[in-house]
Amino acid sequence: MEARGYTGGMTDTNDKKAELEKVKQAIIENEICSELAAQATNLVMGDGNIDADIVFIGEAPGKNEDEQGLPFVGAAGKFLNEMLAQAGMERGDVYITNIVKYRPPNNRDPSPEEKKAFWPYLLKQLQIIKPKVVITLGRHSMEYFLPGMYISQIHGQPKRIQFGDEKLVIIPLFHPAAALYNGSMRQTLIDDFVNVPVILAKLN
Ligand code: URA
Repeated sequence: MEARGYTGGMTDTNDKKAELEKVKQAIIENEICSELAAQATNLVMGDGNIDADIVFIGEAPGKNEDEQGLPFVGAAGKFLNEMLAQAGMERGDVYITNIVKYRPPNNRDPSPEEKKAFWPYLLKQLQIIKPKVVITLGRHSMEYFLPGMYISQIHGQPKRIQFGDEKLVIIPLFHPAAALYNGSMRQTLIDDFVNVPVILAKLN
C-alpha cells in the first residue's frame, strides 16, 4: 500500500489538527479534481474526533454535505447516526470522512480517476489520525483497502492489512444510502454495525 512520505509520530491533538489542515490546503493548492471543485460549495474533509480509534470512510459528499461542509449529514447520515447509537457510539467518538471530498454533480458515483486523485490525501488523513480500525461504507472506499474483494461476500468481517509500518483493521460495511430503503440489506447493515463493538473488544 502506498502510504509513505508522511511523517509519523504525531500524538498531540493540536499537531494533528494543524497537519490535517495542511492536507486540506494541499488538496486546494494541487487543484485536485478541479472540475468537481468548480461546482462544489465546500471541500468536505471530515468530521468528528481526530483522536478516534475508528474512522468511517464513505463515498463522496451529497447535496446536504456539500452545503454544510460536513460528511453524512443528510438521510444516509441520519441512518448512520442511528446505527452508531445502536452500537453504543456517537459521532464524537469516531471520525467520519469520504474517499472523494467534493460532491460529484447530481450525486453520480465518483469516477475511478476521482477516487485515485483523492486516495493519497485519504491516506495522509489516516496517517495523521492513526485509527486502529477503518470502517469502509460501500464498495467505493472498500476497493482501495481490499482490492479484488466483494462487499457482498465480506461485509462485516474484519480484515487485517499492512498500513505503512503499522497494522490496520478494515471492517467493510454496506453503504447506509444503499441500505436505507432496501429491507434485507438494511437489516444486514444494522446487524453488522451492532457487531462492530464485539469485533473491537476482541482486538484489544
Ligand atoms: N454518502 C457518502 O458516501 N458520504 C457522505 O458524506 C454522504 C452520503
